Amino acid sequence: MEEDCLFCKIVAGDIPATLVHADDRAVAFEDINPQAPHHVLIVPREHMDSLNDVSKGDESLVGHLFRIAAQIADQRGIGDAGFRTVINTGPEAGQSVPHVHVH
Ligand code: 5GP
Ligand code: ZN
Repeated sequence: MEEDCLFCKIVAGDIPATLVHADDRAVAFEDINPQAPHHVLIVPREHMDSLNDVSKGDESLVGHLFRIAAQIADQRGIGDAGFRTVINTGPEAGQSVPHVHVH
């Protein structure tokens, strides 16, 4: 857990969020300021600032985040209609929370 990291605090349960998925490696919760009818954030439990910090050993973890996105879309009945997954990396891409997350 990284000091002063908002998403580490959500993962730890220290800051409330509407959880939609939790497992040993990742947590998913509703975005507080949704930009779409379904706007979920999927984060690894382990802190990493951004995609720039993802190492070879994290490849399966990053794949896991996208599988959770597809699973949530399927649960919500929108998997076939379609959904978009986004990772913003760095300030010029609009990353505002430095704990890697899939929208
Ligand atoms: P970014 O801009 O880093 O790609 O995405 C950060 C996202 O986190 C934004 O969509 C923003 O609405 C969301 N967010 C910021 N603070 C909170 C919070 O306290 N709780 C939740 N659930 N989402 C948050
Ligand atoms: Zn963190």
